[in-house]
Amino acid sequence: MIPADVHPPCQDEPELFFSESNPGRTIRAKALCAGCPFTAPCASYAMEHDVSGVWSGTTTVERREARRIAGIVPLPIVSNPYPLRRAS
Ligand code: SF4
Repeated sequence: MIPADVHPPCQDEPELFFSESNPGRTIRAKALCAGCPFTAPCASYAMEHDVSGVWSGTTTVERREARRIAGIVPLPIVSNPYPLRRAS
């Protein structure tokens, strides 16, 4: 069980995870993923959905290839069906 006050490293430096054209940033993002306690659910979500960026230590291209080999068709990303309601 992951303690409730633990958060993933990508929350601290989100720009690293969406800079796949920059190899240095991608390597750094992958290193942060390696120490993240959320890798399993993150990897499942990223494989099942058409997300971009580094997720669970994999790039968009790497996941695309893994899905192709496994015959997985990713689900599209849809906006939150339950948006936060603002107090009026
Ligand atoms: S494994 Fe997923 S949740 Fe953890 S740092 Fe990487 S992208 Fe973020």
